[in-house]
Amino acid sequence: MRLSLLSLLLSVVIFTPACSQTRADKPVASVVPAGPKGATVTTAKYPQPQPVTGKPGEFPVQHTDAEWKKLLTPDQYYILRQEGTERPFTGKYHDNHAAGTYYCAADHNLLFTSATKFDSGTGWPSFFAPATVASVKVKSDESFGMSRDEIVCAKCGGHLGHVFDDGPKPTGQRYCMDGNALVFEKK
Ligand SMILES: [Zn+2]
Repeated sequence: MRLSLLSLLLSVVIFTPACSQTRADKPVASVVPAGPKGATVTTAKYPQPQPVTGKPGEFPVQHTDAEWKKLLTPDQYYILRQEGTERPFTGKYHDNHAAGTYYCAADHNLLFTSATKFDSGTGWPSFFAPATVASVKVKSDESFGMSRDEIVCAKCGGHLGHVFDDGPKPTGQRYCMDGNALVFEKK
């Protein structure tokens, strides 16, 4: 009993909500690097995610909770199915600069490419746009007393992270992802 209370306290102390910055916060200069040099593209070139509708069958990849537990590693299950958050600088890919593609760890849905990845300094892999309009969906998240836009996989509905409007050019968006929800494949 005493041990479980201690671990509960510890988990509260060390817990850091992913990308805890709220939408109302001002961008921090040191965290937001300049966009790609000489970029002349407009945001119209980049896909904008559709909102989650909540309609039945919206997400084609469906499994029971017991099946998800078997299909995913504990780290993946914690993020994708329990809307968990990895601690900054502890997950995969925040420091990955290789050229390649990022997929959903649950269903291999194409999510992001290295072409839109940037170094946010947050300790989470960050992108300024998703790979396609069918990659992710966006959903309002009011948890932890913050108003944020949650990003989920458009195929399985699994939690991936959040999006903020303090990103670099050309879109100004920062998709702050949990690396443990992603699988990277080198080009
Ligand atoms: Zn997925």
